[in-house]
Amino acid sequence: MNKLREIVDDTIQAVAQMKQSGITHVAVTPATRDALGQPIVRRPKKASRPPAPAQSAPRPTVDFAELTARTKACTKCSELARCRKNVVFGVGDVHAELMFVGEAPGADEDEQGVPFVGRAGQLLTKIIVAMGYQRSEVYIANVLKCRPPENRTPLPDEMNNCRPYLLEQIDAIQPKVIVALGATAVRALLDVEIGITKMRGNWYTFHNTPIMPTFHPAYLLYNPSSKREVWEDMKTVLAKLGREAPKQPAK
Ligand code: URA
Repeated sequence: MNKLREIVDDTIQAVAQMKQSGITHVAVTPATRDALGQPIVRRPKKASRPPAPAQSAPRPTVDFAELTARTKACTKCSELARCRKNVVFGVGDVHAELMFVGEAPGADEDEQGVPFVGRAGQLLTKIIVAMGYQRSEVYIANVLKCRPPENRTPLPDEMNNCRPYLLEQIDAIQPKVIVALGATAVRALLDVEIGITKMRGNWYTFHNTPIMPTFHPAYLLYNPSSKREVWEDMKTVLAKLGREAPKQPAK
């Protein structure tokens, strides 16, 4: 059933991306069209068929230095480009198995050019360390690479402008798991408007990469009792990565 959900999710995402890039029609053969009109018949499971080898489309190679330079020179959002001190591209291991995606830089991040270095960032670092990683062993990025004035929520246009950079980062890093921190990251990656409370703790997929939505660390600063749920989500992430969860959750 999960597999079916993954396939449906991937199909919806692929169609949404095609639509975004201006594609309005998809060519299908008469045979496919007829098959799509047929009712779905569940076949009984066969005894022991060896699983087919996973076939994944070849991923594009991304020049990380070129991508960083291109992102840092971006002026697509005129207000953000005018107000920013730094473009906050991302930090960590470009070969990381685990990637965290947040919303947008705040004042501290804008000042230093590094994501998640303020109070919420310090809490994220604690979570990462509690999981058994050094901060430098994972990759941390945001949906927006520039700070929105007064830390307002990113606008849809800003997210559309900046999303391609995040997608290229993901393509370059090829993490085994992405943790989406909060509703904006979920919206940017999965294009859904469902509340984070409903989505957290469940697996979704983005371009074949498993995504675990969880609460944003800034939310945890004001709702510390939700740290328990975040720790449960991180234990699920560690299990997916084949790692044992350390006993002590983040305080
Ligand atoms: N919040 C975010 O979403 N990202 C940061 O880098 C800092 C705070």
